[in-house]
Amino acid sequence: MLKRSVTAHYPDVEPDLPPRSRGVIALQEENCTSCMLCARECPSWCIEIDSHKETIPATTEGGKDRSINVLDRFDIDYSICMYCSICIEVCPFDALHWSPEFAYAEGDITDLTHDMNRLREWMWTVPAPPALDEGAEKSKELAAYEAKLNPPEVAE
Ligand code: SF4
Ligand code: SF4
Repeated sequence: MLKRSVTAHYPDVEPDLPPRSRGVIALQEENCTSCMLCARECPSWCIEIDSHKETIPATTEGGKDRSINVLDRFDIDYSICMYCSICIEVCPFDALHWSPEFAYAEGDITDLTHDMNRLREWMWTVPAPPALDEGAEKSKELAAYEAKLNPPEVAE
């Protein structure tokens, strides 16, 4: 109310958006296990996932073969997405992230469905996570990684 409203001359002047703006969803394919949680929780039903199973042979003698899901298809239809962020919140494997990029309007509505290759490309525009607060506890993954890099010295 106390600030004068100003018309921004987009696209000549790019808006100064907060880094965590909900522009487009990026997929880190390597993290996705095809668990389908995001697709099931999406209130707009705009996520389509297909996958198949592959067997990874045991790496040790007497060990068991492992079965993994391999993504064949991961589409998000932005013509019906509500940008609610539920898919990102529920993903247990940090495979989905917000990018602040928003300039992907299309003349043909079908082009608003981004396939997994396009969703993967958005990953390069995802900002780095903010630094932890001073004194905050490290995540257990980071603590384990650092412990592996610098194992405690064993007294002789
Ligand atoms: S942001 Fe919301 S509507 Fe869009 S894909 Fe994710 S869960 Fe669905
Ligand atoms: S919730 Fe995450 S891991 Fe599961 S299918 Fe969706 S993106 Fe992949």
